[in-house]
Amino acid sequence: MGERLLIIGGGLAGCEAALQAASRGLSVELVEMKPAQYTPAHSSPLLGELVCSNSLRSAEPTSAVGLLKVEMAMLGSIVMQAAAATRVGAGRALAVDRQAFAAFLDAAVSSHPLITRLSERRDKLPAEGVTILATGPLTSEALSADLAALTGSGHLHFYDAIAPIVTSESVDLDQAFWGDRYGDPGQGDYLNCPLSAQEYAAFYAALMAAEQVPLRPFESPRFFEGCLPIEVMAARGEKTLLFGPMKPVGLTDPATGQRPFAVVQLRKEDAQGLLLNLVGFQTKLSYAAQERVLRLIPALARAEFARLGSIHRNTFIEAPRVLRPDLRLMAAPHIFVAGQLSGVEGYVESAASGLLCGLSAANLLRDRAIVLPPATTALGGLLGHLRNAAAKDFQPSNVNFGLLEPLPGRVPKRQRGAAYARRALTDLAAWMDAQQIPLAQAPPELA
Ligand SMILES: Cc1cc2nc3c(=O)[nH]c(=O)nc-3n(C[C@H](O)[C@H](O)[C@H](O)COP(=O)(O)OP(=O)(O)OC[C@H]3O[C@@H](n4cnc5c(N)ncnc54)[C@H](O)[C@@H]3O)c2cc1C
Repeated sequence: MGERLLIIGGGLAGCEAALQAASRGLSVELVEMKPAQYTPAHSSPLLGELVCSNSLRSAEPTSAVGLLKVEMAMLGSIVMQAAAATRVGAGRALAVDRQAFAAFLDAAVSSHPLITRLSERRDKLPAEGVTILATGPLTSEALSADLAALTGSGHLHFYDAIAPIVTSESVDLDQAFWGDRYGDPGQGDYLNCPLSAQEYAAFYAALMAAEQVPLRPFESPRFFEGCLPIEVMAARGEKTLLFGPMKPVGLTDPATGQRPFAVVQLRKEDAQGLLLNLVGFQTKLSYAAQERVLRLIPALARAEFARLGSIHRNTFIEAPRVLRPDLRLMAAPHIFVAGQLSGVEGYVESAASGLLCGLSAANLLRDRAIVLPPATTALGGLLGHLRNAAAKDFQPSNVNFGLLEPLPGRVPKRQRGAAYARRALTDLAAWMDAQQIPLAQAPPELA
């Protein structure tokens, strides 16, 4: 086999796969339809664009997504390097300046001597040649149809919703306070907008009465549980939001010395903090209704919206029925499927699957065996989810410890994260050794 790899899609998975393969000496052709055509969620001409939140979630190595980050960094992930270089304050989460993050990835791909970048849309899957398909949850229509025809399974659709962003200067700071949950009052990365019981009741009533964006007749909404629109959460009960994005726990309002009844947290979107994201406030309300309802939050009474929430399509394949364990299509084993399209959920998970496809494609092109990371690692656990044929109604999943091989014996709940992480990092290091993959970054010491 020649040593040329085609990658379709230059998002998180595509960039990660391209750099992994090129750093192993492969010639890579990366085809990305931007800037000639944008999906409904993309707007930047840069590769590696974050389409919604600027958070890559927990940075704690004892959380599942934190562990996945450490494993990726050990393997030399370019997405983890971009995140480290463009990090903005977000407590224990890893959030980035989205513009700088995408610019970092775009430059890494564009300047690599072994990567050729083509700006065009592909409508057909190639009949031959090792390929990584990484066109994401908003894969263009013709290519989606071709993939559906090839796999025979068609597509499953469900819907996520985007959270609004406000300009920081438009927030009434007399009605808000800085602080992380359980952190020192007055300090921290979150700007909290408190509501009294009365204010919450008015907000809730307006939310329940607000106009939603109508779905087209064939669209059956199946929201991802971790990213429910606020109005869907609210419809489950008057107090649901108080246990979700509006929970006031661990916060004391310096104006009253009391815990607020409810709170909306705002987090910086960019390094300078000019824009703030309403954390967990994804919504599919109409634009007019969003402005009206969100301005009932006292600190946001005069908010200027830099972006309003919206509804979007999410396309993914039914992985357990159409993918081999190494992420190649059963019907076309020269094609790997990476990223959200493969049935993982989230920025970090999408990049992680791109990383694995890049590694595996390099092995395939060099006639070497593809050996996957063990099921005790976060990377292995993520692959395990895509093989879970027992799932009747397959849904994309974020990484979580439930996907990893269970720990032997009983481990107290508080020690479980560290136990999973210790075992995973030892096993990944041994696997990398056996695969002769150099350690790009040493993992942190775990207590
Ligand atoms: C609106 C939206 C909001 C989301 N919000 C979050 C969030 O807040 N946090 C989170 O962790 N995850 C979120 N996700 C889920 C997921 O993590 C992201 O979609 C992530 O970007 C997926 O990475 P990817 O590389 O698979 O796809 P993408 O990053 O979407 O990259 C795919 C690329 O392929 C290109 N492309 C598509 N079709 C073609 C074609 N035919 N030819 C050539 N190029 C093509 C696209 O232009 C795009 O650049 C969201 C998804 C959506 C759709």
